[in-house]
Amino acid sequence: MRLKQIRLSGFKSFVDNTAIEVVGQLVGIVGPNGCGKSNVIDAVRWVLGESSAKQLRGESMADVIFNGSLKRKPVSRASVELVFDNTLKSLSGLWNTYDEVAIKRVISRQGESSYLINNQQVRRKDITDLFLGTGVGSKGYAVIEQGMISRIIESRPEDMRLFIEEAAGVSKYRERRKETVMR
Ligand code: ATP
Ligand code: MG
Repeated sequence: MRLKQIRLSGFKSFVDNTAIEVVGQLVGIVGPNGCGKSNVIDAVRWVLGESSAKQLRGESMADVIFNGSLKRKPVSRASVELVFDNTLKSLSGLWNTYDEVAIKRVISRQGESSYLINNQQVRRKDITDLFLGTGVGSKGYAVIEQGMISRIIESRPEDMRLFIEEAAGVSKYRERRKETVMR
């Protein structure tokens, strides 16, 4: 599975429809201070289900919506879509049959948040389930932020185990077991 494209609209400083092509194995985002590099990473975390505004460097979830500038009025909704190449079929569940899987999250100023997979409305859980065992996720290790390496090294054994289980692909079975016990 490979991230091919990031589409943003009304998300933080990306007020207009913006498509970022992720080409090749290694991509760098460069630019002057404040140009929006970290906002791209925030967008990726957000669409994967991040529910903590603080993790996204804001105070409330509505802070991810473009809130205006000298020349532009604020907008009322934000959306981010990640397009994955899934020709290697490495996702979990029903959606794994598709060669291309696009996940999207939309939020309005009223706080309504919706998630979509290939343009079909789904639950947040469907997004997290899709990536279980792949390392991708708002709590996964696919996005390594500043300070995260030392946090992992210094984490308690129980937390360290969660990282290792995700890397080993065991976490999806743990989730499924939990669901079976709850039923
Ligand atoms: P640095 O090199 O300093 O790390 P950066 O390229 O990572 O900078 P970001 O933190 O991604 O920069 O972007 C910061 C910019 O995004 C600021 O100009 C800020 O005003 C703008 N911004 C953040 N949230 C919003 C929002 N909701 N609406 C409009 N602009 C926003
Ligand atoms: Mg930054």
